[in-house]
Amino acid sequence: MVVAEPALSVVVPMFNEESVLPLLVSRLRGVLDGLGEPYEVVAVDDGSTDNTLVALHAARRGWPQLRIVRLRRNSGHQAALLAGLMRARGAYVVSIDADLQDPPETIVDMLRLARSERLDIVYGVRGDRTVDTPFKRWTAGLYYRLMRRLVGKQVPANAGDFRLLSRAAVEALRELPERTPVLRLVVPWLGFPSGEVTFLRAERAAGRTKYPMSRMMSLAADSVTSFSAAPLRVATWLGLAGVVVCGVLVVVAIIAFFLGATVSGWPSLYVAVLFLGAVQLLCLGLLGEYVARIYTAVQARPAYFIAEDTDASAELADSLR
Ligand code: UDP
Ligand code: MG
Repeated sequence: MVVAEPALSVVVPMFNEESVLPLLVSRLRGVLDGLGEPYEVVAVDDGSTDNTLVALHAARRGWPQLRIVRLRRNSGHQAALLAGLMRARGAYVVSIDADLQDPPETIVDMLRLARSERLDIVYGVRGDRTVDTPFKRWTAGLYYRLMRRLVGKQVPANAGDFRLLSRAAVEALRELPERTPVLRLVVPWLGFPSGEVTFLRAERAAGRTKYPMSRMMSLAADSVTSFSAAPLRVATWLGLAGVVVCGVLVVVAIIAFFLGATVSGWPSLYVAVLFLGAVQLLCLGLLGEYVARIYTAVQARPAYFIAEDTDASAELADSLR
């Protein structure tokens, strides 16, 4: 159990964010100094290859509340976020993107709501998605509907990783044995009293998104071939395709039967064979889904490695991570 030292920790994962850093520092500092309470900012440098780290150290010279946690290599947004959460010491911990898409001013509202209503979790919920393309809105809507069905109604729609957690909620996260939890699903699943603060998501203040489509695609291909159990799932798709083809053939066979354009016996035979084959592949694929998950869980690789933490007193065990 971490002793909550500052009243508030703000965790900011950063990957190549040198262009936005001066803006971020001045805006975040303005908001946090205005609180009049002790705080720390945990900047997690997710293996940046630009001058983010140098700029962070420069900023820290004039801002002792800025703490720098450097990961050994780029581990992805979720892992960087997790690293920051596990190391934060505050009584409340807010996670926020570095690019100022989540307005730092909202942190004040989150903190006020958490305290007045005695909440352990306050979600930042996007007020409107009119800046997104219709396709993005549609897929996002689908995603949240499905997640609410799977995890439960407590999963807020349109809430990303801009949220406040109490010390108790962070400790509950720490105790989960999962190495790479999907935070936006696991957090609501913890079952703490929660509330929402609506905000308008701004455009990225500077720099470029770290998730361009091309990078996602090539990254996906590399990951699959070198590191993942995803090919196990091919059977699922083959099975599904088989079911569809089989459905079409059934219709064809019925029509052929009534037209008398068939040798008696063979439609029922090939439909049965195809159908059984498809079902078998489908079931095999489903099995593969679970085997794949067991595979990654058994590997139990840490989600990240800490290379540096400017908080020298931080001999924090990141639980098993
Ligand atoms: N980020 C990170 N590691 C990565 C990719 C992104 O720490 O490998 C950080 C990034 O610096 C930013 C946040 O995650 O603070 C969200 O990324 P981004 O703004 O690029 O995503 P988008 O808002 O476009 O979805
Ligand atoms: Mg962004």
